[in-house]
Formats: sequence, structure tokens, C-alpha cells
Amino acid sequence: MKVFDELYRCVHCGFCLPTCPTYLATGLEGKSPRGRLHLMKAVVEGRAEAKGKLLEYLDSCVYCLRCETACPSGVRYGEVYEEFFKKYKNEMQSVSYRRVNLLFNLLNSKIGLRIAPYAKILSQELGSMVSGGDISDLVGKVYEAKGDFRGRVALFVSGDCVAWRYRRSIVEAALRVLTWNGYEVVVPRFACCGAPYRHSGQFEKAEALAQRNLSILKELRGVDAVVVPNSGGCQAELLRYLRGFKVIDAAQLLADGLRGVLGEVKIKLAVQHSCHLMNVAKAHDVVLKILSKIPGLVLAPLPSADVCCAGGNMYPLRHRKIADAVLAKKREEVLSLSPDGILAESPSCLQQLTKIGLPVYFPLEILDMSYARAENNGYPEIRARPLYG
Ligand code: SF4
Ligand code: SF4
Repeated sequence: MKVFDELYRCVHCGFCLPTCPTYLATGLEGKSPRGRLHLMKAVVEGRAEAKGKLLEYLDSCVYCLRCETACPSGVRYGEVYEEFFKKYKNEMQSVSYRRVNLLFNLLNSKIGLRIAPYAKILSQELGSMVSGGDISDLVGKVYEAKGDFRGRVALFVSGDCVAWRYRRSIVEAALRVLTWNGYEVVVPRFACCGAPYRHSGQFEKAEALAQRNLSILKELRGVDAVVVPNSGGCQAELLRYLRGFKVIDAAQLLADGLRGVLGEVKIKLAVQHSCHLMNVAKAHDVVLKILSKIPGLVLAPLPSADVCCAGGNMYPLRHRKIADAVLAKKREEVLSLSPDGILAESPSCLQQLTKIGLPVYFPLEILDMSYARAENNGYPEIRARPLYG
């Protein structure tokens, strides 16, 4: 079936409307999934032109894909949207992507990655992208499993991608937790997963990155799974092209049993789900189940935890007003729960939620904290050898 045939499967029921962050923030039909499908259909049928306000409505989609999960007709919104983006690439990029792509590509270049920590001078958005330490010295290594050997996994992080390059505490937590649980962890020099490029219409670049990651993995041989340390966006993208490989979140990997003693972490965390972890990988429940084993930890999902925070896809840089409106609602919900911090499941959520002003944690950081607070002989140490000769 041709992708645009999906447009005719929409029965205009509106079940998707309450799941759409941009519709909830604006109340505009044109900024809802149903409205966007209607607009794309008008262009594809030649009844409207891809320009002006119509393009602005389409461009304002965050690409969270929550609407797909609510649709009784099973409309594959994401595929239609991407096909439309490919067909009207110049028009679609003209609204906001051309501007932010320049910035993102510059930051993700060799020089850009080095000077990225200074980007915080330019804006809060850029600052939150590079808020942790550099992971460059952690990649290109193999980390030894502790205790009974459970398997060999490749950890998906990339020193070539601004979203991961400065997330040291999460990567370190992943290494400690996974090796402690009996996994040998291989950290090759992966490229960016490609999601930011594909979502912004840079399809060739995304494909090149996919091919590079595929060949890195093929060279590795003998890994049981590709493990993503809490990034729904990367996991969803890898699931698209790493066919024949098991691609899972670190918490999913540990779902069949955590080793050792979990210490008390007496904090209350407001929970916001990662859209792609929930809507594509469908792993958000597993993550919470694992964390619920930690003594003292209280997890309080936001009433709108399953609605996107508008942090992904460089959204705050592209549609500041809508992103701020979505965030204001999240802030209100977070504060009403009086938590000590927020639990996020993806780097792009972290960039947005950090503006609420409370500490933001990742599931792996909480697990790591819990292990470190209990009697786990030799827990924090990790031992590594070089991966490349
Ligand atoms: S992908 Fe997200 S933002 Fe876009 S139409 Fe669907 S629910 Fe709305
Ligand atoms: S839920 Fe599905 S069928 Fe109903 S309006 Fe939304 S996209 Fe169309």
C-alpha cells in the first residue's frame, strides 16, 4: 500500500486530539493530528499548495507519535508525515528547520562538539544540551562483567553527537549498573543514531549514519543486544534500521532480575515519559517497574505524563511559544505533586524539563544511586580495556 493511502483511513473521529501537545497548547484544529492529515491530503490531491499558514501548521508537529497510539483506525501518522516531508522537502524545511539545522549541524561538527560547552552563553536550550561532562574517554572500550556472566552487549552512545557527548553521569551509571549485573559492555565509536537528521528532513545524512552504525555493529560480532541508556528517541531510530539486532533500553535488559542489594533512595520524583520510549519502543512501563523495586523511592507520574513535553526535535528552538505553553502546564503539574525532582527518560526531555528548576534524573542514575548506597562489595569500580587494537 502506498504511504499516502493512509490519509484516507482517517475517519475524523478526533480520538487523537487529546493526545497531541500542540493541539492542547493552541486549541487549533490545524495543529492537531486530524487537522494535519487533512492539510496533507489537500496538498497531495492538489486542492491546496504547500505554502504559508498550511506549512506552518505542519511544521508545528513535534513528531512525538502519541496520536498513533490513540487512533482506532491505526493511521500511521509518522509514516505519512515523513513521506510528505520527503516529497515537499524544500517547502517543509523553509519554515523553521533550515534555520535550526544550520545550528545543529554546526554543533555536531568536529569543531562544534569541542566548543559546544561554550554554547550555553548563546541560549538556555543550547546550555542544557551540554550540561554534563564529556564522554570521549569512555568510548572505544570494553568493560568487564562482574560476577556470573550474563551476556555481551553494545552500549549505544555516541561521542559524535551533542545529545550524548555531554551526558557523562548517565553513561557512567549505565556502565556501573550493567557490568555489576553481569554484562560485558562494549562501547564502540558509534555515530549519532540519525534521528535528529531524519526528523529535520536531512534524509541522506540520516541514512549515511545508519549505514555507519550498521557496519560498526557487524564488525563487533557476538553482541547479544544493543542497549540504549535511557533515550527513547535513539532507541526508536535504531529499531528502524538495526534489523536482526535486539535493541533495548537498559532497564528492559535488567527486567529479568537485578543483582545485588538495592539501597534506599528516599526521594519523590515526578515522572514524564519519553514519547518514543512509550509510543515506539513501548518500554516505559518496564522502566518504572524496575525503579519501583528501590526502597524509599516514590514515583509520581504527571497527569499528562503520556503527552509530549515538546522538548524533542529541537522544538523549543523552532516553536518557542508552543513549547513554553506545553512546559507551563508540565510545571504546574510537577509543582502540584511537590516532588524532589523529575524523572526523564530521554536527553531531549531533559533539555526541556530542566527549565522547571528541579533536579532531573534518568532511571539509570537512580539505579546507580541505589546500588551505591547499599552493601555491594566493589560496586562503583569498573574495569576496562581498549576495544580497538
Ligand atoms: S506526532 Fe505528536 S505533535 Fe505531531 S500530530 Fe501527532 S500527537 Fe501531535
Ligand atoms: S484518531 Fe485516527 S481516525 Fe480519528 S481523527 Fe485521529 S487520525 Fe483520524
